[in-house]
Amino acid sequence: MDSRPAKTASLPGMSTPTPMMVQYLALKAKAGDCLLFYRMGDFFELFFDDARAAAATLDIALTSRGEFDGKPIPMCGVPVHSAEGYLARLIKGGHRVAIAEQTESPEVAKARGGSKTLVARDIVRFVTAGTLTEDSLLDSWASNMLVALAPVGDAIGVAAADISTGYFELVTVSSNALEAELARLSASEIVAPEGFAAVAEPIIRPRADFDSAGGEVSLKQHFALSTLDAIGPLSRAELAAAGGLIAYLAHAGQGKMPFLKLPVRREVSEHLLIDQATRDSLEINAASKGGRSGSLLAEVDRTITGAGARQLAADLAAPLMDKARIEARLSLVQWFHDAPLLRDAVRTALRQLPDIARALGRVVAGRGSPRDVGQIRDGLDAARALRDRLGAVADRPEMLDRLLPTLDGHGAMVNLFQRALVASPPTDTGQGGYIAEGYDAALDSLRSAGRDGRQAIAQLEARYRDATGVAALKIRHNAVLGYFVEVPAKHGDALMAPGTGFTHRQTMAGAVRFNSPELHEEAMRIMQAGGHALAAEAAHLEELVAHVLERRDAIAASADTLARIDVSSALAERAAESNWCRPSFVDHPCLEIEGGRHPVVESALAKSGDRFISNDCKLAPDSRLWLISGPNMGGKSTFLRQNALIVLLAQAGSYVPATSARLGLVDRLFSRVGASDNLARGRSTFMVEMVETAAIMAQATERSFVILDEVGRGTSTYDGLAIAWAVVEGIHEANRCRCLFATHYHELTRLADSLDALSLHHVRAKEYKGDLVLLHELATGPADRSYGIAVAKLAELPPQVVARARTILEKLEKGRAETGGLAAGLGDLPLFSAALDAAEAKVDVVRAKLTGLDIDALSPRAALDLLYELKKAAGEE
Ligand code: ADP
Repeated sequence: MDSRPAKTASLPGMSTPTPMMVQYLALKAKAGDCLLFYRMGDFFELFFDDARAAAATLDIALTSRGEFDGKPIPMCGVPVHSAEGYLARLIKGGHRVAIAEQTESPEVAKARGGSKTLVARDIVRFVTAGTLTEDSLLDSWASNMLVALAPVGDAIGVAAADISTGYFELVTVSSNALEAELARLSASEIVAPEGFAAVAEPIIRPRADFDSAGGEVSLKQHFALSTLDAIGPLSRAELAAAGGLIAYLAHAGQGKMPFLKLPVRREVSEHLLIDQATRDSLEINAASKGGRSGSLLAEVDRTITGAGARQLAADLAAPLMDKARIEARLSLVQWFHDAPLLRDAVRTALRQLPDIARALGRVVAGRGSPRDVGQIRDGLDAARALRDRLGAVADRPEMLDRLLPTLDGHGAMVNLFQRALVASPPTDTGQGGYIAEGYDAALDSLRSAGRDGRQAIAQLEARYRDATGVAALKIRHNAVLGYFVEVPAKHGDALMAPGTGFTHRQTMAGAVRFNSPELHEEAMRIMQAGGHALAAEAAHLEELVAHVLERRDAIAASADTLARIDVSSALAERAAESNWCRPSFVDHPCLEIEGGRHPVVESALAKSGDRFISNDCKLAPDSRLWLISGPNMGGKSTFLRQNALIVLLAQAGSYVPATSARLGLVDRLFSRVGASDNLARGRSTFMVEMVETAAIMAQATERSFVILDEVGRGTSTYDGLAIAWAVVEGIHEANRCRCLFATHYHELTRLADSLDALSLHHVRAKEYKGDLVLLHELATGPADRSYGIAVAKLAELPPQVVARARTILEKLEKGRAETGGLAAGLGDLPLFSAALDAAEAKVDVVRAKLTGLDIDALSPRAALDLLYELKKAAGEE
């Protein structure tokens, strides 16, 4: 916090702004809607609205300084040395910050234009959520994606990068797949050209940055390539997005480019598609109450390193569609699963591992410290040891054989770094001391000159004490005076006497300070040696950094391998903890799970000593839709979700919580929860439910897996039943996907008569001595009753209300029996397929009329008549 008294002198109130204000306003114009951190000495100051916004977010005092246009200028400031923490809070608070530094020293400014000259300042960097590299501003276990979007024709190019590790990918999507793609990437920041409206509130950048020809040039320039063949054929949209991304990074770093690896080109079809609503509903990477805890990721994550945690999050966010790749991952997990001792050893080794990927990111971005280089050294050294250990084990899975060589080849560099750097180098270079003794003889002698000098000064002190007879005489040092001789005030006069060799420098309250020619000489020697030593260390650091830069791709590859080893051994650990099994894959769309469990619910129950009841699921092309009824709280939602999570884990290359699992690959996963379960979202919930259901019906294919939980609940009984009925029919007849549909509409069970791939199931419950017992066990057939009143009793609704409800229910049920109930009359409903056929038949008539028509032979009048006729045939009249 800024606790200094406000100075009013430098911004006096007058109508023409001071030179400083002129400079400030020019920089602010350049900063645009970013907060401007304006460097003044040891502080970054903020003015005007920036100060108000920052003071509110940071909860620091808003002061004022001088006047502008006759009004006081609001101001707040943060000390430079602790600016990172404040930056972190501002970025989390949704701000972006432009850092304006002094680009010359006050001495240079004075020499340039006299003593009153303003020090030149310029913006050196924009700090934004997507362009961070500092450890303290990033979560070690989460990636930090910056995404650039570029529409070209009907396609949208997506360029995504995590500059803290150099990850870079390109993909082209259609506009209806954009949302799922962004959900996968979970971007911290999205940039798009002016006029782009497909996502809410992107950072808008000039359209010229998103030009495909320009993008090609930027890619070639950045990677010093003459062709882009190494990346693969890129679409115009991808080139445009890459151009936008690179331009934004250049802007954010003000020309200094961060680390980017050669981009990976992806296809949307490589991944199991999961839209945002499904991710939220399944609580994959974050729980519905917010945060990671309670999510699938948190439940599964046993990784040790930050890089491993980031890789696991990415794997779960984007399960694969390629059987060979999934099996390769699974084989590595199994290898670790079946060898607990080896797994333990590897996991112990991983504990020593620094975050090489992020250290590399900082070094390449030009913000690397001795500590970062030290981390790369230690990480690569550990990698070498791990390689030796794993390489010595026989029967390695193919994936490991492919990965192990990437851990090699850094030996010479690691050895050099081990000789050059001290064991734990500092982040700050200001004090030196990071280059090891014995690495450079010249540096060592500068250092010993410094040490000798300090010793000489100690000897001088002893000599002066003897000579003056002042036992309290001391030689001290401070930043302003350098070295000086100090005696208590009462001895001051003795040293003032001419001929003593001491010259007076300063009189303090209780002490007097002096200089002497010998002291001056020693001090100069120490200072020079110190300055030269610092310069020598800096030069060495530069050399070490050059080695890192030269080998950046190989280092990044080692880091990726270590992350994969961490993920695989962690998944093995998780599987071993709870007896999970390796899933297997077949070519037809089935889902056969025995003894399936919900990992998150199971461990929540375990904490309170309760046991999770496992359940089977068996979907196949001829029995692909399960309609599940049963009492509230019976375990329907849990069952639905556990099967979706098992699919997701399996395709991400993990073991699954079941005794056996066999499935045909799923191309899209959908999960929807009926409106009333979801009130917390605070939107028009029924509308949301319908929009989401519509998306499923439009997008689910025969290879998709859909779970629908109480769809149709958010409206009146008749509406809800009608909608649920039609949705089940539609899914069965048109989408033909695998589907679990949980419902409390008992009437839907009648659909089993007309839909042959639909079967009925229920969660079991029984009443024991008037109380409801929920068995959480799935059984075939419809539920015998809904048990709503029994659940109400379980929830301790007052006994008189429960009794009254029973009486009312009896009446209603009697009425239902007499009239045929809610679904009376649905027996003679034409089949869904017949309704589809009727629509199709109309199209056929139109088609028949159109085929064989000779348009050129028609008179205008005849053409008009024909149009009327066609419209009539289409049933539009
Ligand atoms: P429904 O969807 O039928 O209303 P839920 O799936 O929400 O029921 O389950 C309600 C609660 O029952 C869960 O929070 C959990 O505590 C418990 N439960 C669900 N399934 C099981 C199971 N298979 N074994 C043990 N407890 C379960």
